Amino acid sequence: MNNSIASLKQYCNSLVQYNRRKTIEVKIGDVPMGGNNPIRVQSMTTIDTMDTIGSVEQTIRMVEAGCEYVRITAPSLKEAQNLAEIKKELRKRGYNVPLVADIHFTPNAAELAARIVEKVRVNPGNYADKKRFENIDYTEASYQTELDRIRDKFTPLIKICKEHGTAMRIGTNHGSLSDRIMSRYGDSPLGMVESALEFLRICEDEQFYNTVVSMKSSNPQVMVQAYRLLVQKLDEGGFKPYPLHLGVTEAGDGEDGRIKSAVGIGTLLEDGLGDTIRVSLTEEPEAEVPVAYTLAKRYDKRANHKNIPEIKHYAINPFEYTRRVTHEVVNIGGEHWVPRVIADLSQREAITQASLFSLGYHYSVPLDKWNITDMACDYVYAGNKLIDFAIPGTLGIIYDYTTWLTQNEKDRVYPLLDVNTFLEGKQLSNALNFVQVSIENVNASLIETLRTNKNIVLVITTDNEHGMAEQRRLMLNIIDADCSAPVIIRRNYVDLSQEELQLHAATDVGALLLDGLGDGIFLSAINCGPEKMLNETAFNILQATRTRISKTEYISCPSCGRTLFDLQETTNKIRVRTNHLKGLKIGIMGCIVNGPGEMADADYGYVGSGPGRITLYKGKEVVRRNIPTEKAVDELVNLIREHGDWVEQEN
Ligand code: SF4
Repeated sequence: MNNSIASLKQYCNSLVQYNRRKTIEVKIGDVPMGGNNPIRVQSMTTIDTMDTIGSVEQTIRMVEAGCEYVRITAPSLKEAQNLAEIKKELRKRGYNVPLVADIHFTPNAAELAARIVEKVRVNPGNYADKKRFENIDYTEASYQTELDRIRDKFTPLIKICKEHGTAMRIGTNHGSLSDRIMSRYGDSPLGMVESALEFLRICEDEQFYNTVVSMKSSNPQVMVQAYRLLVQKLDEGGFKPYPLHLGVTEAGDGEDGRIKSAVGIGTLLEDGLGDTIRVSLTEEPEAEVPVAYTLAKRYDKRANHKNIPEIKHYAINPFEYTRRVTHEVVNIGGEHWVPRVIADLSQREAITQASLFSLGYHYSVPLDKWNITDMACDYVYAGNKLIDFAIPGTLGIIYDYTTWLTQNEKDRVYPLLDVNTFLEGKQLSNALNFVQVSIENVNASLIETLRTNKNIVLVITTDNEHGMAEQRRLMLNIIDADCSAPVIIRRNYVDLSQEELQLHAATDVGALLLDGLGDGIFLSAINCGPEKMLNETAFNILQATRTRISKTEYISCPSCGRTLFDLQETTNKIRVRTNHLKGLKIGIMGCIVNGPGEMADADYGYVGSGPGRITLYKGKEVVRRNIPTEKAVDELVNLIREHGDWVEQEN
């Protein structure tokens, strides 16, 4: 791979100076996107499209919450036709929000909707193709015949959009790539990009440029790589710089959904990519809107950040996950250790056994034992507060250096030093020392000293507003100097709401972890919410980046007018029964649109197949059809048992 900065920078304007990628402006009703317009926020209704008043009222709630475009599903002609009624009623009530028709499988519905609403979203994976899940061996000629067939099916829609001034989104979904794309490119970011480019070429041949593109996946790693690759391929292929619609599909709900979305969307926003955001939560659509604004507003004044030195050589592959190679220090770094979590208790008046409860350690007084949960932190940073009780066997304590010196008992007790103290060659722990550095401190003498001290873990900090880019730049210095010391990413936050903290931390740390950088997370926060939340945020970021799995993962769709059961209620029921199955991925989809493909990423799937009916999947295979909804959760549990993935819940 060519790692010269010239080739890699093509996925964004700059890796060190915040600079939003310049895109063409796309006209969508009265709310243009791209160009110099702000990052737009949008969402999708969840009500049946045939329920005109229900759809209108939900749309109004979304607009009142700040939604700038509203997407509505149009699975067939009758729903596409009803978009006219919804639009008429909205305009009558004084709401001019641009409407977007969401289309899968039905070109005739798209052609009708494009005459009614301001934008049409097509999924290139299923617009002109029916999935048979076949691997087909194409020759150049047979592949071309397929492309010609797509051109014939897709061109009428382009012509209608041109005639009516309707915009279009070519919305690729990782879960629903066509058999043709899968056969040639596999289930990969490249396949996702090519899937969109096939459609974009047809648009450009027709001189139609009112287009937005998206590359969604429920896996933030795949999603980020696909968007980066898309930008590179657009530039390389001489396409116009189309605006990007960012989203992580089936992110789930609550903090999991927020953190997963922030890891994917935030990582791209940091590098100046993205012109509109849709956060997909399994919640009411209006709940998605503030999350999107919180993600976007961080960049309003970002360009004024402190200078970060330019990059000459980029040692990170932004299109493929590779963890940075480090040596092992106790249980940090190396080939085998998952990233560690350091909890900060240094602001407490005093640290007692009860202080550890919120960090995943439950002490039983009668048994005199610690119960350690899957979200138990690995280290506690105590600052200069002394811990005078026996700590759980899996926990390490970190003291400030001067406090550490006063400790007689040094087993699982380690110092945190600043660079100068470290370079002065003072007394160190034989096992493990944490040395805190910022970008200014990484110089030749530090690197030289690190070469001879193999028991050092670097804790990197930043006070730069463009902190992720600065910490990434620091990492590049270390990599280029061939330094293999493990690195803990530390971030400090002050006066944020709980949700802001989760979204900011997921962006700042998640973006580095997705590129294989970082052997641990250390979040310090003042007035941002409880310690328990902070500790769980760290674990959730690791889970979302798939660098450390500590719980069951739910890949649940946000629901829309196609949904065949109550997604929020069902997700909760499934969660109650299965949330102890650490590492298992369960897909919960309202309908089949993304179902089978999305199951590629899930171990088990629960998919609506008709009113009151559920189909269950094991991987991509259908294993039980048409189960009545009342029995489906039990059947899912049975299925998990049959395949040996069930464990009994501990009381
Ligand atoms: S998977 Fe969910 S959000 Fe997607 S189309 Fe089906 S019901 Fe709607």
